[in-house]
Amino acid sequence: MAGLVDIILGPPGSGKSEQASRLAASHRYVQISTGALLRASNDSAIKATIDSGELESSEVVEKVLLAAIEQIDASLPILLDGFPRLKAEAKWLDQALNKLGRELGHIFVINVTEAEALKRLESRGRSDDPKAVIKHRWQEYTTQTEPVISSYRHDGRLIEIEGAGTPEEVAERIAASL
Ligand code: AMP
Repeated sequence: MAGLVDIILGPPGSGKSEQASRLAASHRYVQISTGALLRASNDSAIKATIDSGELESSEVVEKVLLAAIEQIDASLPILLDGFPRLKAEAKWLDQALNKLGRELGHIFVINVTEAEALKRLESRGRSDDPKAVIKHRWQEYTTQTEPVISSYRHDGRLIEIEGAGTPEEVAERIAASL
């Protein structure tokens, strides 16, 4: 049987990728971070989009994601870190999973306040972490990604996690939710 595909989402500074790595290690998922895949690309247009705080176009993200999924043994469960963030991506994912014979599992959402997220990101210093860019990324999350999350709310797959506190505390909440 093909492995399930779980999703982890959260606003910038929620610690979603940190929690994705922990979950992948403890639950033997293969983690795929679309942000990490895009940052690893040598394409200067992609780099410029990331550094502006805008979301990349769905087509570009879907292409790199599909290539990554196709390299993974079909029996292994996957944890998608940061995808889907747009309604179009959620629709694409449904169709892609159908074709791959995989099913959607849990959708974890890590919630933090904007003030807490800002405090965390200011000390991180990634190239898309200047304050104005963080603001833009936050705005993209509320306008584009929150509607995607709402669309998953009805089918009982959504697991919302309080993201305040230490990474260990958040990881414990996630473990307790399973
Ligand atoms: P992240 O590492 O998840 O914070 O993502 C960093 C940046 O990569 C985002 O601000 C977007 O520009 C881009 N990105 C990552 N995942 C997606 C996605 N699913 N759709 C569109 N853009 C994305």
